[in-house]
Amino acid sequence: MRYLNRYNKLRKVTSFSRRKFIGGAAGLGFAALTSSSSSLFAKSTRQKMAMNISGKIISSSDDNYEMWRKGLVWQAAKPNRKPELIVQAKSIDDVISTVNYARENKQKVIAKSGGHSICASFLRNEGILLNMLAMRDVEVDSESQTCTAQPGAWGPTVLNALEPHGLGFPVARGGSVSIGGFLMGGGLGFNPNTWRIACFSILGADVVLADGSQITVNEKSYPDIYWAVRGAGPGFFGIVTKYYLKAYPLPGVLLTSQYIHPLSEYEKVSSALETLVPDSDHKLEIILLLTSNSDKAAVEAGAPAQVCLINANAYGADEEESRALLKTIADSPLGKKPLAKKEYELTNLKVMTGETGESFPRGRMATEGVWSNSIAPVIATLYKRMKQAVTPITTVSIRFLGNTRLPDEAAFSLIGSTNILSVLTWQDEKDDEKIAGWMRGTMDALAPYSLGHYINNDDVVTYPERNQASFSEASWKKLRVLRKKYDPEGVFHDYYGIDS
Ligand SMILES: Cc1cc2nc3c(=O)[nH]c(=O)nc-3n(C[C@H](O)[C@H](O)[C@H](O)COP(=O)(O)OP(=O)(O)OC[C@H]3O[C@@H](n4cnc5c(N)ncnc54)[C@H](O)[C@@H]3O)c2cc1C
Repeated sequence: MRYLNRYNKLRKVTSFSRRKFIGGAAGLGFAALTSSSSSLFAKSTRQKMAMNISGKIISSSDDNYEMWRKGLVWQAAKPNRKPELIVQAKSIDDVISTVNYARENKQKVIAKSGGHSICASFLRNEGILLNMLAMRDVEVDSESQTCTAQPGAWGPTVLNALEPHGLGFPVARGGSVSIGGFLMGGGLGFNPNTWRIACFSILGADVVLADGSQITVNEKSYPDIYWAVRGAGPGFFGIVTKYYLKAYPLPGVLLTSQYIHPLSEYEKVSSALETLVPDSDHKLEIILLLTSNSDKAAVEAGAPAQVCLINANAYGADEEESRALLKTIADSPLGKKPLAKKEYELTNLKVMTGETGESFPRGRMATEGVWSNSIAPVIATLYKRMKQAVTPITTVSIRFLGNTRLPDEAAFSLIGSTNILSVLTWQDEKDDEKIAGWMRGTMDALAPYSLGHYINNDDVVTYPERNQASFSEASWKKLRVLRKKYDPEGVFHDYYGIDS
């Protein structure tokens, strides 16, 4: 009821600008009804919308549409889904105008920030894609140890702004991942046992709703939308134009160690991790990669082609503490007789995001994974899958979380002590089916150990059921109810393949 009142009030308040907009677009509905050519409709739409949008508008009938459309997707595999319009938002007014236009013209809208969704969840047939990448301002308030960030901001942009104040944030490991989609889907970032899943550091958000209103949501104002902003993923019923974030004092000294063992020694590795992980300090982060040996010369000389690579990062208050944290790994079987090792190296968050270059191999990419509470059985399963790898760039990463208690009630509601992610990169489209087959086989093999999916990492387009499988039952039910409440006319695209 409160929402409806507000909706009606806002209809009055915004009626002038909307009338101007719709008035300017006189004849548009007529064109849509009378023209059998969708391209004529799209051109007309673009011209009329341009009256109210400061950013660029690209319609599906434009000559260079394909260049713009493909450019939205970070990776090399570009799905063939085609929105009718791409709006490059420059301002909040652009966002509001686009949402109003969509509602009045029975079109659907979806936001895209960094375009790193591997399944390109933002790319839909028909409707409007609202590109938020140009909206990427970050402002820091060092006194309250908070910042605001627009959704297009890349992880390193946030880190650069915070660093002079001695602050940090659990951004993504990929340097060009924007916080828009990363936070919306949860966000498994740095220092996860202390800084937790990143969306729990959202203190509030500015959101444009289906009625074109912009509201600020937080614990006190629209707590149900605030609940959803923290983890709803690519089915959120609104557009975030700004996040209000809690920042954290940077660790005094960040040290990192790395140990490489032959893949064939996976049992030694997994039994060491079984012992280490449950007792590990919350300032220690451990990641295991089963991957190709990047030392090609060594492989040619007879070294194993596939390896277990253990990365350990210590977020201690000072060198002494960080060294002590890493020593637990050095003293374990992981530190004994590795093929190669680096120990106690000084690093920082910006280096770890790969700020100076994209640290991920480029090409066509697929990622899928699950949350689990198992260690040894999962590693044994993945060892077998690695032996059947179909591309040389096959990596399975397992991130260990010593702290799986979720700090708050939020849409993000499913977690385990291991986050397993298969990352496959390849170059040739003709290998797509082979890759998909390997992924299917791996997910089937992991099924007995799976607690569910992590919506940010998964292919929720090919497998729409994994949207629901990324939430607790109660969270999913609540998300469905909230969508009906706040977007009754279905202005925003729903989760891919899920009917409103
Ligand atoms: C190289 C690489 C490294 C990665 N590293 C990590 C990592 O370390 N940890 C991790 O957890 N994940 C990681 N990811 C996954 C990443 O978090 C997700 O792909 C995330 O969605 C990317 O954010 P984005 O802004 O690019 O989202 P986009 O791809 O732009 O959007 C994804 C979806 O988010 C929604 N969305 C985006 N912006 C908004 C908005 N402003 N308002 C409302 N909804 C919005 C839309 O529904 C959209 O479909 C990585 C991905 C890649 C490719």
